[in-house]
Amino acid sequence: MLRITQAILLFSLAPFLLANSHFVNWSDKTLCRLAKDSGSEEYRLAAIDRGLTCSPVNTLIATPKIKIEPEDWITILAASDVSEDTVRNVRQFDGALDANELKILGISTNRCIAKPHKRTGSRLAATWRQEISCPAEVFVTSDIGNGTKAKIEITLGAVAAEWGNYGPVEYWVMGSDKAAAEELIKKYCLRRAKNKNMDFGKCSDRETRAANHGLLSYHKLGAKALSTKKWVFSAGFNGGPEWGVLRFSSSLPLGLENKLGAPAAKDQKQIMHEYFHGVQNAHIRALNHQKRKALEGPVWFKEGAAEYMASVTYPKLVLEKKIDHIKNVNWEYDFKKEMRNKLREAKLVNDKHNCIPQMTNMDYSSSCRRFFYDGGTWAIAYLVSQTNENVLLKDFYPNLEKLGWEATFQKTFQKTSDAFYLEFEDFLKKQLSEVMLILPKH
Ligand SMILES: [Zn+2]
Repeated sequence: MLRITQAILLFSLAPFLLANSHFVNWSDKTLCRLAKDSGSEEYRLAAIDRGLTCSPVNTLIATPKIKIEPEDWITILAASDVSEDTVRNVRQFDGALDANELKILGISTNRCIAKPHKRTGSRLAATWRQEISCPAEVFVTSDIGNGTKAKIEITLGAVAAEWGNYGPVEYWVMGSDKAAAEELIKKYCLRRAKNKNMDFGKCSDRETRAANHGLLSYHKLGAKALSTKKWVFSAGFNGGPEWGVLRFSSSLPLGLENKLGAPAAKDQKQIMHEYFHGVQNAHIRALNHQKRKALEGPVWFKEGAAEYMASVTYPKLVLEKKIDHIKNVNWEYDFKKEMRNKLREAKLVNDKHNCIPQMTNMDYSSSCRRFFYDGGTWAIAYLVSQTNENVLLKDFYPNLEKLGWEATFQKTFQKTSDAFYLEFEDFLKKQLSEVMLILPKH
């Protein structure tokens, strides 16, 4: 949690210029009486100068008047020209500062905003594949807490430091309130129009229609989750390269918003999964849809890579204290346990639908879709165990556009993808204890 250990409003006392006057030998009591009764500014300042508290201090240069300690970790000292309302607002601190609170505390909220990459014809500029210096931009509907927004920013920042900071990232998070969702869609479409990506009306139609992952559909998922009390959640990488950005959408993050007993850790891990899709896309400059799809490779590879990388990186970043270990519910992320569950699920789907021969599939609409995610995570884990932990980021993706998917696979893993599928089929038949041995030891 973002914490303030001590918040102090600083002010300076104007110097008092007093000549050594005739009252220098008077007693404190006499000086106080004269300061109060005479109304003389000279006596009042003399009393202050002597350090006496009997005389009222000018409110504009006052010592702190309000001191509150709402929690054991925050002390707020406010000058007397700060209203009690303001102090009350700070007192209701919810774990993250809103813009007004940050302003009061004099903390800069300026995050640099990266410019979209340029394109030449059907190709993005070479800068597309380079890391940028600005952090992700996260947009949330007004019914989502600032604490949630900050946690998404922190998660994206930490994982970008780990895998490379690509972007500009636009991460749009829709809440359950319809009016708030429509307001954010308006903001989104104003941005598209301003950047000359798309006409406002066309954008608005696209984002509010039911199908095709429009932003309103993400709002509906969150609303449905709350009304049915079921964990319904979806997030996705939804394009953006055509505009020189990486665009993500998310429904209400139930865990981060502390709803329905959902673990916040799952949301953090999901954010990493989505960001890895951003990393994958940041290595492809071609804008032609078919070319991009071919370079991304089969569904098992792109989803398995995103899920494996998120699965190993989430606990690493928690351990290194780079993201918050949020224990909002009685549930702990356990890498080995998660991998065991994925293995069980992958085997079940494979037994039912014979998925190994379908691993060449580039399409999500398949009876093996679940296998592509869970089996895909294991397939990547297996490939990593035969090479090294950085194989995707350091070897595979840097070569991808130049060589194409299959040739990059062969160069990286020293075998054809077909040979790998047969090997992986045998691997899945092994005993659980033997399978688990390939996982990294953390
Ligand atoms: Zn995915």
